[in-house]
Amino acid sequence: MKRVTVMSTGNELLYGTTLDTNASFISGKLFPLSLGVRMHLTVGDDTDDLERAFRYALDCSDIIIVTGGLGPTDDDNTIAALRRIFGFPVEIDERSREKMEHFFRDMGTPLSGADLKMVEIPQGARVLFNSRGLAPGFIIQNEKNTVIAMPGVPMEMMEMTEREVIPFLKKECGAMERASFFIRVVGMKESEINEKIKSMDMDLGRFEWGMTAKQGIVTVTFAGKEEAAVDFGGIASEARRLFGGGILDPSFERPEQEVIHRMREKGMTLAAAESCTGGLIAKKITDIPGSSDVFVGCVVAYSNAVKMSELGVSKELLFRFGAVSEEAASEMAAGVRVRLGADIGISATGIAGPGGGSPSKPVGTVCFCLADSRGSRPFTRRISGSRERVRAFASLIAIEYLRNYLKQEQG
Ligand code: ATP
Ligand code: MG
Repeated sequence: MKRVTVMSTGNELLYGTTLDTNASFISGKLFPLSLGVRMHLTVGDDTDDLERAFRYALDCSDIIIVTGGLGPTDDDNTIAALRRIFGFPVEIDERSREKMEHFFRDMGTPLSGADLKMVEIPQGARVLFNSRGLAPGFIIQNEKNTVIAMPGVPMEMMEMTEREVIPFLKKECGAMERASFFIRVVGMKESEINEKIKSMDMDLGRFEWGMTAKQGIVTVTFAGKEEAAVDFGGIASEARRLFGGGILDPSFERPEQEVIHRMREKGMTLAAAESCTGGLIAKKITDIPGSSDVFVGCVVAYSNAVKMSELGVSKELLFRFGAVSEEAASEMAAGVRVRLGADIGISATGIAGPGGGSPSKPVGTVCFCLADSRGSRPFTRRISGSRERVRAFASLIAIEYLRNYLKQEQG
């Protein structure tokens, strides 16, 4: 598999003022192809630094894709650095020059000699026309390496990548579309997922896989290393064996989407009673368009007084077991279900911290309950981390529990 280095240039990327989105865009476009992105390099505008970085990248990769530094100013040094290595003369790209002349004429500004630098390319290079801006990109090749240079402006770079660079890589560099497959796992640590995947009963050497985590949901992507077919069916059944109900249906990005979908299908309604989550469950549910078909409402019952008056939690129960107890969670869920007239009530009551913990109920203890017409299903979880994390995970756990309940109910 050909090795690729993606190189981003510009002092602003080093100063922390601009986030390097070009490298992630390009890598994302290359991932489905049979090319291996092995390195991202970020370099400032200094020509010596650029030359060093190019030499290093040329040494350890077959293809370099570089963005930035093709403009007219003194800090645009990509061509100068490449020139020190390859020794090519430069020439003007006529088509780009004409475009630039029209552009300046329309603006009513005279063209200066310095502007011509913007349309310079290495002599004989393959030109990547810039349909969104003025500076063209280019491709130079020798026996060993291919260097693809594009402007740094994200809009220009993105368009050029899709329209010219990807087709070039497929046609001239043997890049093929490789099949890929993903699973989304809810509420499990990345290290745990990593261990489980390594224990899969299959030849892991035949594909690449990687994880991205977002709000408690980890997406694991698998792609074949070469063009050869990969047994995605085998991965899918191994994943089902190892992760069970923790895998999200592939047509949904988040568990609340699946919850809304399943409840709508059944014509069921949902209400929430929230203490420590302060409305986060309701927020997640109502983030989904069309949730009004299913979600009737939520009571944020933060004080004991409101737990009693609005949800009917008994005073004796709160006194005996405390507000953070499965008993209180059960009455909250049952109470909100009846009072808001929903088929299902869910509740969360816990200690988000940093204060308020005790030896028997440490910070991060959260009690939940799901109530339906047949009764209550309370349970307790311990969530580690900051107040923010405890609250976020508590809302995720409540929704995830509901998702698995609906799956079991509906088969
Ligand atoms: P131009 O011909 O427009 O000058 P250029 O090739 O010289 O293009 P740069 O000057 O390096 O490109 O960058 C132009 C703009 O694009 C700047 O606003 C810069 O912050 C932004 N930019 C450059 N590289 C990146 C990157 N890797 N990620 C996100 N933004 C970038
Ligand atoms: Mg520039």
